Amino acid sequence: MQKREKSFGIQMLSVQPDTKPKGCAGCNRKIKDRYLLKALDKYWHEDCLKCACCDCRLGEVGSTLYTKANLILCRRDYLRLFGVTGNCAACSKLIPAFEMVMRAKENVYHLDCFACQLCNQRFCVGDKFFLKNNMILCQTDYEEGLMKESYATHVR
Ligand SMILES: [Zn+2]
Ligand SMILES: [Zn+2]
Ligand SMILES: [Zn+2]
Ligand SMILES: [Zn+2]
Repeated sequence: MQKREKSFGIQMLSVQPDTKPKGCAGCNRKIKDRYLLKALDKYWHEDCLKCACCDCRLGEVGSTLYTKANLILCRRDYLRLFGVTGNCAACSKLIPAFEMVMRAKENVYHLDCFACQLCNQRFCVGDKFFLKNNMILCQTDYEEGLMKESYATHVR
């Protein structure tokens, strides 16, 4: 899987006093400050290039911005909203970062996928589950599996 992030650089430019002021893509007013930001081929007030989520000024946060669906976001929020957590260990599809997941050891699961893989029993907080050969098992199936195994090793 290739990781493709929609990140764009931000440049800070000093405004030459003899040039015509540029319009800000954020507030549509003319930029009369000494510095302006250039990003996405547009010009911005330092205050106007902000993350749509947390309102942080993107000109200061490491000079990269991320866009998705017309939103301008800082890296943290972009990853939180649109990054991926990993692949679900049960159905092996990608899990988007904003989705709730269940974790068991290094594995992550969709909430819907986190069930006993033999009897489909769901687990609630506090329930016991077992991981065997990377399969999630409920206590009943796990113990049944153990019994069969010990049976198999004893009866010869
Ligand atoms: Zn502005
Ligand atoms: Zn942000
Ligand atoms: Zn899944
Ligand atoms: Zn089960």
